[in-house]
Amino acid sequence: TERTLVLIKPDAVARGYVGEILSRIERKGLTIAALDLRVASEEVAGSHYAEHAERPFYPSLLEFITSGPLVAAVLEGPRAIAAFRQLAGGTDPVDKALPGTIRGDFGLEAQQNLVHGSDSVESAEREIALWFPALSSI
Ligand code: ATP
Repeated sequence: TERTLVLIKPDAVARGYVGEILSRIERKGLTIAALDLRVASEEVAGSHYAEHAERPFYPSLLEFITSGPLVAAVLEGPRAIAAFRQLAGGTDPVDKALPGTIRGDFGLEAQQNLVHGSDSVESAEREIALWFPALSSI
């Protein structure tokens, strides 16, 4: 089994898609191991997106991700990382995400693309430790 860190981003929370997204996760068969509604601090958001620090959209990305409540979750299951990324669809909701995916069905913009999911085992470990420090030691 595998774990992945998922964020239901502030745009999705503001638009009322928390239930819809959690429902898709549950219908896929993934287990919700941790779930928390919170406003991300600048420190956690900056560390989460540290790999994008030099990108032109980084300041705007941090402003967006800290702009309101988001839902942080840890999902568990066989191939949980790839399974959630399949549900999410590609990064750009119009150019990359297919209909039937969360981004493809509900998104229009590259930044406000509803969800985040870890992209590798290493990222998942780092992100779970960052968002749920108490969980990562288990
Ligand atoms: P995430 O890491 O959130 O799952 P991802 O791995 O699909 O997304 P990355 O390329 O790591 O995509 O980009 C991280 C996040 O930065 C994206 O999810 C999106 O919110 C934002 N982003 C990516 N590209 C752009 C862009 N060209 N303009 C604005 N925001 C962007």
